[in-house]
Amino acid sequence: MMRKGTMIVLAAALVLLLAVIGGCGGGQTDEAATPPATGDATQLAETHDCDGGCGMKAVPLDKLTEINGKFYCAGCAAKAKTEESAEHPHG
Ligand SMILES: [Zn+2]
Repeated sequence: MMRKGTMIVLAAALVLLLAVIGGCGGGQTDEAATPPATGDATQLAETHDCDGGCGMKAVPLDKLTEINGKFYCAGCAAKAKTEESAEHPHG
């Protein structure tokens, strides 16, 4: 003859088991459906290497200045502008 306490433990274990299986499966599905969103935004942005010789690579275009069809970072853009104006001294 089974004791009432044993039945309750078995019933509780069964409920717990079902909850774990159901919860686990649902959770995994949700995680798999959600795409990883961290770090991709910067890679998707259009980038260009700095042509100024400073060695900067994959600089976002909004950080670059286009001079004569080349892209320069802030530092190199200032130099390039100076050199460009220096090419035409006193007409
Ligand atoms: Zn540069």
